[in-house]
Amino acid sequence: MTTIEDLVSRYREPLESFPLELAAERKKKHPEKKLVGCYPVYHPAELIHAAGMLPVGVIGGGNRLEIAHADSRFQSFICSIVKSTLELGLTGKLDFLDGIVFHSICDPARNLGSVFARNFPKLMVDYIHFPQNMTSPHTVDYLVSEYSRIKARYQDLAGKSVHDDDLRRSIAVYNEQRGLLRELYAVRAAKPQNVSTVESYVLTRIGTLMPPEEHIPLLKEALAAIHARDEKTKDRIKVVLEGSFCEQPPLELIEGLEAAGCYILDDDFLLGWRWFLRDVPVEGDPLRNLAQSYIRQSVYSGVKHDTREPKSKHLIDKVRETGASAALILSAKFCEPALFDYALYKRALEKEGIPHLFLEFEEKMWIFDKARTEVETFVESMLFD
Ligand code: SF4
Repeated sequence: MTTIEDLVSRYREPLESFPLELAAERKKKHPEKKLVGCYPVYHPAELIHAAGMLPVGVIGGGNRLEIAHADSRFQSFICSIVKSTLELGLTGKLDFLDGIVFHSICDPARNLGSVFARNFPKLMVDYIHFPQNMTSPHTVDYLVSEYSRIKARYQDLAGKSVHDDDLRRSIAVYNEQRGLLRELYAVRAAKPQNVSTVESYVLTRIGTLMPPEEHIPLLKEALAAIHARDEKTKDRIKVVLEGSFCEQPPLELIEGLEAAGCYILDDDFLLGWRWFLRDVPVEGDPLRNLAQSYIRQSVYSGVKHDTREPKSKHLIDKVRETGASAALILSAKFCEPALFDYALYKRALEKEGIPHLFLEFEEKMWIFDKARTEVETFVESMLFD
């Protein structure tokens, strides 16, 4: 049986050196297959998949990418992922893509979509406006029409009509993939000694770079290996991690947080690829099912404007439900949605008496001593309180 160590070491180095390598290699081998990049956070990947194309998570350039061109095109107070994504484009590292889609998550992402449209005229560039009002009776209809518009763009790009049955098949495939990811996260929350956060991260991230039909058997194999593990529990505090829903921290940083004395029971890494709390219904109108699931059964996030329940309540619930004793807020530097959320989280966590530590990261950071020392101090303050 393949071990988790084998699986993770097979994919970790490519992810660290050039996160998009798996997808770029695929394009070299199958140039006829069209690939569409999906900027964070959430994208209805089913619409791309149903058109016979591959959705690819364009989730930054990693910490080995030198930013030589994009820096001069943005203000200094912009998050790293916006710069690294443009740098990838300007240096030809996104040439393997046939299209790229952005979303209404924040002003920098919105502007990046326009910058791409202007600078890369051969690339199909589009942008999804997700609803800002989740309680209006028109919200679902609005999102259905937005999905219908983007579906037409994908049909043009693929040169293929997408029928409802194509979409239903794609929804079923992604339901299976997301279900396995939910299982992976549940196993980690229950027995964090048996699967590290870095392992679960690598297993999740590769699913943004390969067809779900290949990711699903790989996840099944990994889960079987994880269930067979029986590691001893270490003397660590249990935390949930929040704030990294868009730009992703370097793997060494995640590793350092655990090594500093934490079991991370839950996180919001790669959130858009695990977006639904339950399966999207397969029967019925597929666009409406996707839209209704976005409104009624998707995760909370700093980039989803939902006034029905405060995000801080969700975070507190997550801490309580997982049995964590603290929260780590790990936000990308200059990420406004994450920083706005932190103001709310801080107040709620303090009110509930839940200790927390706030840390900032940058995608391109490669010195982790300071973060690790801060976490060690935090852990010690809890263990010896
Ligand atoms: S990291 Fe934050 S500010 Fe930057 S693109 Fe993502 S959501 Fe927007």
